[in-house]
Parts: sequence; structure tokens; C-alpha cells
Amino acid sequence: MRIANHIVDLIGDTPLVRLTKVTAGIPATVLAKVEYFNPGGSAKDRIAERIIDAAERDGLLKPGGTIVEPTSGNTGVGLALVAQQRGYRCVFVLPDKVGEDKRAVLTAYGAEVVVTPTSVAADDPDSYYSVSDRLAAEIPGAFKPNQYANPNGPRSHYESTGPEIWRDTDGTVTHFVAGIGTGGTITGTGRYLKEISDGRVRIIGADPVGSVYSGGTGRPYLVEGVGEDIWPPAYDPSVPDEVIAVSDREAFEMTRRLAREEALLVGGSSGMAVVAALRVAATLGPDDTVVVLLPDGGRGYLGKIFNDGWLRSYGFSEPAAEHTVRDVIA
Ligand code: PMP
Repeated sequence: MRIANHIVDLIGDTPLVRLTKVTAGIPATVLAKVEYFNPGGSAKDRIAERIIDAAERDGLLKPGGTIVEPTSGNTGVGLALVAQQRGYRCVFVLPDKVGEDKRAVLTAYGAEVVVTPTSVAADDPDSYYSVSDRLAAEIPGAFKPNQYANPNGPRSHYESTGPEIWRDTDGTVTHFVAGIGTGGTITGTGRYLKEISDGRVRIIGADPVGSVYSGGTGRPYLVEGVGEDIWPPAYDPSVPDEVIAVSDREAFEMTRRLAREEALLVGGSSGMAVVAALRVAATLGPDDTVVVLLPDGGRGYLGKIFNDGWLRSYGFSEPAAEHTVRDVIA
């Protein structure tokens, strides 16, 4: 029998799948690590489990405790799954720009959501940051994971994502590409792959144009979950050998192509990472194997990246449809 006792037990061990269409003309092997196979739908399930395990071990989270975190997305879902399994309450602080669907996902899992105004300064008592700090201080038994600084974020990738890639490629991986948000994924996975390969595996970050990791100042970009205007402690800049800047336009075009040509419905940060991976792979030969991590699925972006009107409203043209029903009936 092959039965999991809880959905949380199915975190990790995500598959590698060969990219075959968007890689046309590239002799190197390009493999996608598809993190939407995690039960909460993203790579963030990994850090949620590891952060909660460590907080329990360190006595920061006790039975009946409350997890308080400013997060609107994937980290909240991961924390909500693990919290539910272990009987913790979750309070997530969200800026009011976050869409109704994302809010509904968190409350569906039983989390409580506090909405804060986007249009106030970070030091305003009503800001996203101030409210989460205040709740963490005032709720008895509260624990704040602080994913941007918690070393258990990168550690979870060092202990799971990295070893899985090494095992599933029989140690033939030569390049690893991942987007950088908190930096946890690239720091933990990259560090493991460098250590196990005696420095042979090259680690490449992908970053939105304008973000600090690729030399920007934090200018706004539309791709979600990656890029920063500060340097978070979860990121070790000595791990990547290179960081490639990718524009929103390139990221969104590739995200649409992945759905249409590779049947991979993924988010914009996945498209961004694939653009960087293909840029690297184009310089390599047939003996090279590039692994690119796709952090989440595309269902959360149907109204944005997969909506032609939304793309057009930001000045991006929608990808050309090759054949439409209109052509057939004309
Ligand atoms: N893509 C998405 C959609 C994410 O939610 C995140 C996490 N912020 C990332 C990429 C980047 O991962 P990390 O925080 O580990 O750098």
C-alpha cells in the first residue's frame, strides 16, 4: 500500500521534466523541476514545513500557538497546510492590492486574514509591516516565521531540493537556474549542488530587470514572487556565479509559451527562470544538463498573464494565436 497519512507528508520529491519545444535548436538538455506538484502548489511548502519544525524544536511555537506572517501568496498557503495539520492558528497580513482569489485560498485553508492599506508608508502604524509586527507582539503564543531572514528557508532547499536534483539527474546536472525572491531557493539548492559536485555545478540566478540582485534599484516590475528592493538575510550572494536580468515582457511571453507548447501551466517567475535558463543553455553543448526550477502553477495568474486584455493594458501584446476558430469558419 502507498498511502500518505497527511497531505503535508507529500511535500517535496517533485518531478523533473524535459523541455522539448521551447528549447528548439539548443543542444544542451534542459530539465524543469516542477514545484506545483507540492500539495500547496508551490516550492514554499518546503520552507513552511522546515520553518515550523525548527520553531517547534526551538520552543518558539508551542501547542495552540499562532503563526503571524505578512504574506499574500505561496508562503501563506504552505504555512496554512502545516499549521492545520498541527493545530496552530494562522494570521496572515495582506496588502489591499492582493486579489480576492488569493485571499480566498488562504481563508479556505482556515487561515485568518488581516487586510492593510497599500498606500501608506512602511513606518505607518497601519502598514503591512507595522500591523504584522504588532499582531506578533500582542497575540499570546505568536510566532513570526519571517521568511526573508529565517535560515530554515534556505536550509529546507539545502536538505531537499538540492539532493533531489542530484539524485534524479544521477549527478549529471551541470547548471542550476532559479529566480530570486527571498533568495532561499537559490541559496540552499545552489550551496548543496556546489558542495556535492566540488564546485562543478554552475548556479545562475534569474531576476526581474530593475531588482537589486541584478544591479537595479528596486524599480517596479510586474512579475510576482521574485526581485527585491532590499537584500534579505535569506540570500547569500556568494552562491550564484551569475545573475541574469529578465524583462516582464520576456518572462510573460515565455510563461504563455510554456502553457501552449510544453503543457506547463506555471506562474510568471517560472517563465522568467526559463528565459534565463535558455539564455545559458544556448551557450552550452550536448553534454550539459541545465535544471531550471519552476516555483508555482499558473492558476493564480489567469486574470493577469493569461489574460490578453491585462497584457495589452501594460503594453505587452498577447502571443500570436496560430489558428483561431474564426480562421476555420471564415
Ligand atoms: N516565484 C514565486 C512565485 C514565489 O512565490 C517565490 C517566493 N517568494 C519565488 C519565485 C522565489 O523563491 P525564493 O523566495 O526562494 O527566492
